[in-house]
Amino acid sequence: MKLELKNSLSVKLLRVVLLSALIVGVILSCAQIVFDAYKTRQAVANDAERILDMFRDPSTQAVYSLDREMGMQVIEGLFQDDAVRKASIGHPNETMLAEKTRDLQQSDRRWLTDLILGKERTFTTQLVGRGPYSEYYGDLSITLDTATYGQDFIVSSVIIFISGVLRALAMGLVLYLVYHWLLTKPLSRIIEHLTNINPDRPSAHKIPQLKGHEKNELGIWINTANQLLESIERNTHLRREAENSLRRMAQYDFLTGLPNRQQLQQQLDKILVDAGRLQRRVAVICVGLDDFKGINEQFSYQTGDQLLLALADRLRAHSGRLGALARLGGDQFALVQADIEQPYEAAELAQSILDDLEVPFDFDHQQIRLRATIGITLFPEDGDSTEKLLQKAEQTMTLAKTRSRNRYQFYIASVDSEMRRRRELEKDLRDALGREQFYLVYQPQISYRDHRVVGVEALIRWQHPEHGLVPPDQFIPLAEQNGTIIAIGEWVLDQACRQLREWHDQGFSDLRMAVNLSTVQLHHAELPRVVNNLLQIYRLPPRSLELEVTETGLMEDISTAAQHLLSLRRSGALIAIDDFGTGYSSLSYLKSLPLDKIKIDKSFVQDLLDDDDDATIVRAIIQLGKSLGMQVIAEGVETAEQEAYIISEGCHEGQGYHYSKPLPARELSAYLKQAQRSRAAIL
Ligand code: C2E
Ligand code: CA
Ligand code: CA
Repeated sequence: MKLELKNSLSVKLLRVVLLSALIVGVILSCAQIVFDAYKTRQAVANDAERILDMFRDPSTQAVYSLDREMGMQVIEGLFQDDAVRKASIGHPNETMLAEKTRDLQQSDRRWLTDLILGKERTFTTQLVGRGPYSEYYGDLSITLDTATYGQDFIVSSVIIFISGVLRALAMGLVLYLVYHWLLTKPLSRIIEHLTNINPDRPSAHKIPQLKGHEKNELGIWINTANQLLESIERNTHLRREAENSLRRMAQYDFLTGLPNRQQLQQQLDKILVDAGRLQRRVAVICVGLDDFKGINEQFSYQTGDQLLLALADRLRAHSGRLGALARLGGDQFALVQADIEQPYEAAELAQSILDDLEVPFDFDHQQIRLRATIGITLFPEDGDSTEKLLQKAEQTMTLAKTRSRNRYQFYIASVDSEMRRRRELEKDLRDALGREQFYLVYQPQISYRDHRVVGVEALIRWQHPEHGLVPPDQFIPLAEQNGTIIAIGEWVLDQACRQLREWHDQGFSDLRMAVNLSTVQLHHAELPRVVNNLLQIYRLPPRSLELEVTETGLMEDISTAAQHLLSLRRSGALIAIDDFGTGYSSLSYLKSLPLDKIKIDKSFVQDLLDDDDDATIVRAIIQLGKSLGMQVIAEGVETAEQEAYIISEGCHEGQGYHYSKPLPARELSAYLKQAQRSRAAIL
């Protein structure tokens, strides 16, 4: 702020000091003038007294001797004095012996002096003879014109007034200079220094001490201000450091040091603006690890973290081609490819990320392979905003995972509508049980010892009023997410057990029922009691109920899973491990779990005639199961050739379209009877 002169402290002081000095000067001068006026009046009287004294004797002489001539001479003598206007000698009761008058003196200031002193003043003295009787002869009377006195009075008054005012002014001026020198000037210098202070680094510019002011209030003020500035700087520094680390924490992922979602959004915002201007494409690539949870469980969370770090490094290797790279959280990463021309460029990048993952990670002499599924969205085709592109890329990735993993998938409008459908399904799922939209189908399981139907697997079906038959692969994950799986699972168990009782009653008393358990159910504390109850209610023999748990489900939390499996087994159920070969289970874990049966995943069975690897895997699993003393069943057996191979490898049981599709209860009853009849015919 610029200081205007009229607002300056010294000018204000000058004004105040001058005004008060003026007022005091004027008052004092006036008092002195009043006193002067009084003294002038006094002087008139004194002069008159002196004149009368001087002329008293000759006047007495003249009156005494009635000498007119002498009287006139006295009068003339009196008139020598300019102030005398009128003079007379004589007895008041007789005609005057001598008298003379002259006009009042003319002067333009008379009006003023007449007011103060009066026009004229008359003084009289008695003329008394000498001697013992002191006889009275008459009076000597003079009238003095005040003009001469007034003249002097005016002159001296003016001088008094002017000198008074001048003195006041001089005092004011001196005071002003003193103030200016001692206060205003140093203050202005301090202000000048203050304006030089950089608010970002307040203590960089120290206010210097002013010479001669080191010990007074100004000096103390400067010292205090300097200390204050220093502590402000210290505090600002601390605050800025805290802010910086907060900002880093808010913008970067703690583990990998990669930008986090917020930061990515900001970067992508900018990239999209540029791309929009240059009319270029942008690809948002969302990478999600397949079953990272399983890895965390199987190894340790530390190893999991190490893996994420190593993965972040592999992704960083692509940063030359990237506009942004971030960790979205958990096992999800996002890459942004700015400025691409064709979608295949994004596909190439996605594929090279997948190829990178083919090389296993080395940890503690262990080789760990990560797989990932990738969702890709393109700007401008799939969305024009950061939120849409990211959200759709994540959706695409999630959805791609539910189909098959370890691949990339571009966003297509159908993905979006499928997402919507999923949301709708999830909502409908909550009422499906109450509306009796579920039913069970059963698929036979064949023993290769005697080719008899030894069991059936219960598989749930959902008849949706609008969407028709919804496959369990679609709604079971939704039910697991929203928790309805617990109620649905109990309903399945109840239905399956009731049905098994029926078949036992119909004479198929050796028949076993396999029921799928979701991981969520497995970790539900009530489950063993529910199973136990059902076995009792339906009077089912122990080991006639088999519970299938998936490999990945088990691996999520091995120790809890082991406990729960034990209590399930105690209630009399058998335990099978489903989809075996697709997860990460290691031999040691398999040994520690209370399992009765291994179910080879159908993906290996289906390709085993075309794919040597799959054939090897199937053989290895059968060997493994046998060596651990477990039963081995192959699912998805569709052809006689597949059957022949697994039988030759020593597999105990088989299940698949080769024998029968999953059938409703009534049809399966017929199937069972048919099988019984044909066996009887053979025997
Ligand atoms: P899963 O337990 O692996 O069931 C086997 C799936 O393979 C069934 O599909 C079955 O119809 C199908 N399948 C059987 N034989 C063949 C074959 O020869 N070739 C081929 N390509 N497929 C065959 P579905 O019924 O669609 O069930 C899919 C999955 O849904 C099941 O996989 C299971 O994980 C889950 N699921 C089904 N019912 C239930 C249930 O009641 N509770 C729970 N938690 N999950 C269930
Ligand atoms: Ca199953
Ligand atoms: Ca399976």
